[in-house]
Amino acid sequence: MKLGDFELTAVRDGLFRLDGGSMFGVVPRANWEKQKPPDERNRINLALNVLLVRTPDAILVLEAGMGEKVLGKGIDLYDLRQEEPLPAKLEALGVRPEDVDFVILSHLHLDHCGWSTRKEGDAWVPTFPRARYLLQSREWEAAQKPDLRSRPSYDPRNFSALEQSGLLALVDGDTQVVPGVKLRHTGGHTAGHQVTYLESGGERLVFLGDLVPTFAHLRTNWHMAWDLFPLEVMERKERMLQEALRSGDLLFFTHEDTAAFARLASDDKGGLLALPIE
Ligand SMILES: [Zn+2]
Repeated sequence: MKLGDFELTAVRDGLFRLDGGSMFGVVPRANWEKQKPPDERNRINLALNVLLVRTPDAILVLEAGMGEKVLGKGIDLYDLRQEEPLPAKLEALGVRPEDVDFVILSHLHLDHCGWSTRKEGDAWVPTFPRARYLLQSREWEAAQKPDLRSRPSYDPRNFSALEQSGLLALVDGDTQVVPGVKLRHTGGHTAGHQVTYLESGGERLVFLGDLVPTFAHLRTNWHMAWDLFPLEVMERKERMLQEALRSGDLLFFTHEDTAAFARLASDDKGGLLALPIE
């Protein structure tokens, strides 16, 4: 897909499932099950959507999927379905690991940064050997000493090697990466969560990360039980989505299984509706 001078490609690191209750917090199942029907184990289907961005200045990968660290029981627990490794999918699109200039991570939960590293012998090494890996320093700090609640969501094998190899590029707050690519700190889901804005030729895309993981999460008070700061999520989400509706922004959803790209419209009850773009 074109966004001004940028070429955008959604690449999927597979599908998985998580408990529907954990994805919708206090929203009753009777409400969410109409939008996201659960399986017999109460799990809803989710995608691991990664965005490849080619600008005149750089090649960027936004988010890095689940990777190859979930094995055995984990595959059953998450019903993880990956066909081909993400690097092979990128190569098929003409992008070799060494071609990637930047990897932007919204945060370091294990379903967002899995392909940051890959296995070489017994060690985990950066998958993209030349890339600078961009994330908020608050997220990095939280991942080094996770609170009790967040500990299972952080797998150091996904990120320790980034620091050792000198590829880690920590930022504080809002930052421009290359012309037309801006990081915006949001907090909410985690204290260091960030989103990315892409802008070219008068068009704009918002990469929402885990602030709005699926179309069903467009409603302000439908948010994940995983969110560490729910009120912050609701407030930031409301502001960003209203701005996106007004500006006609394109949106990218990391966990929506029906389509990664959408635009917004108002429904007849004053709520927001996703218009998927194939
Ligand atoms: Zn997360």
